[in-house]
Amino acid sequence: MIQEHDINYGTIFWYEICIKHTKFLPILDILSSRLFVEGATVMNYHVVQAFHAVGNGTLFTGQITWGNSYSGPISRFNWIYDCGSTSERVIDTQVKGLPLWFGAGGQDIDMLVLSHFDDDHVNGLETLLDNHVVKKLVLPYIEWAQSIRDISVMGQKGTSPSVALFQLNPARWLEIKNKENRIGEIVLVQGNGGPDDSGSEPGSNFPKDIDWIDDTFPENKMEDNEDDAKYDYEAADSVFMGLGYPMHHSAIKVTRINQEQSISNACKTFEFMFYNAEKSLQGLGLVEEIGGKICAKKSRVPLGKVKTEIENLIMGLGLDGDLRSLPANWRTQLKKCYEKHFGHTAKARNNISLCMYAGPVDTLPFMLCHRHSVMTKGLAILMTGDINLNSWVIDDMKQHFGSERWDNLGVIQVPHHGSRHCWHAGNTRHFMPAIFVQCATGTKHHPHDDVTRELTSHHACILNADRSTPVCIKYDYTYFPHKR
Ligand SMILES: [Zn+2]
Repeated sequence: MIQEHDINYGTIFWYEICIKHTKFLPILDILSSRLFVEGATVMNYHVVQAFHAVGNGTLFTGQITWGNSYSGPISRFNWIYDCGSTSERVIDTQVKGLPLWFGAGGQDIDMLVLSHFDDDHVNGLETLLDNHVVKKLVLPYIEWAQSIRDISVMGQKGTSPSVALFQLNPARWLEIKNKENRIGEIVLVQGNGGPDDSGSEPGSNFPKDIDWIDDTFPENKMEDNEDDAKYDYEAADSVFMGLGYPMHHSAIKVTRINQEQSISNACKTFEFMFYNAEKSLQGLGLVEEIGGKICAKKSRVPLGKVKTEIENLIMGLGLDGDLRSLPANWRTQLKKCYEKHFGHTAKARNNISLCMYAGPVDTLPFMLCHRHSVMTKGLAILMTGDINLNSWVIDDMKQHFGSERWDNLGVIQVPHHGSRHCWHAGNTRHFMPAIFVQCATGTKHHPHDDVTRELTSHHACILNADRSTPVCIKYDYTYFPHKR
């Protein structure tokens, strides 16, 4: 498989990550011989990952393959995190190359995660769906009023009308693009309101770690092949707008998970876990309860009525249509309506970007080192999108993922294309030793000198996926089912 990828993907440089714990070597020998005696399966897995060359933006792909050559066909799990770039030409070219990257069996994307709805993270989606079917689309759970605010108040720079419609109603967007049935299910990841960053800077006493997934609580785990999760009308209604074509009229199933639940690949040896720091409307003080009803803070109109009014406005503007008739001031009109109900909320900042941990589960921390290898603390990757990775968020994330996962991190995506507003002094030490990947074109602010300097001061390994060079990382791991 390694060779197949090397050939398919041309002459790129692979970084091989590995960890060395010599103290486990004798145990490995004993354990493996014992397992063979008992007839248990020791399975080998191969992981390839790439930050594609899209510059400012992110297109990250991963593939796990497993199976022994004598026991039948190789199994695969394909996933993508974000799919966009500030250059539409660049993202289109890269996305068109993905069938080659994934190889045979790569038309099915088992999971696509979109961190948030800025064009540079989403605008390759339409091209992606030309060649691929997405089984599970994972999105941050964002209440519809937050989305309206993002699009109308904050979105001038980042969100085009097409991406705005996709955010508000993916089913309608797919219908317009003639791509119904290209997405099977939408999984909304609900957070816990993010860190409490109202107080003072957090100190060194980190909160108690949560337990590594406990097998006695099977509901903590959502298997890839689990089909019995019910359509979540309430979540769909809180997140999406009807716009004459509600989500439940489409074939797309909408479900919700809490960020405590992880998603694992079919064979349970690799897990994905998310982190959503979004604050709710209530948490931001944008709504209040009046006479038993949740109402918009400023207008004091019940939220349901506000939603209908905004939906009618959007349909009147034609944002739900083919977008050609959209008036130039559509955003201003939307903003006016939003602020009439919720007020000027420049202060009510939110930190929305769905972060993702992805790494092997329950493996012995043992790897052989090869040429071109980089030593890291672990094999897992942390994808951060455009989150503002301040110390409150890092502490909250650390507590959320737990110490075992945190110690397994080997690759960190530097958030927001190396913006200095999202990476802070002291960040690097939380992750060392690791590979730090910046997804940036290489302009004045992306990556910013301050960020690069902070990383280099810790002698970190910094790689950059700009518009000409991808960053490709691979490793193997072995699963020992009876480790515990
Ligand atoms: Zn971005």
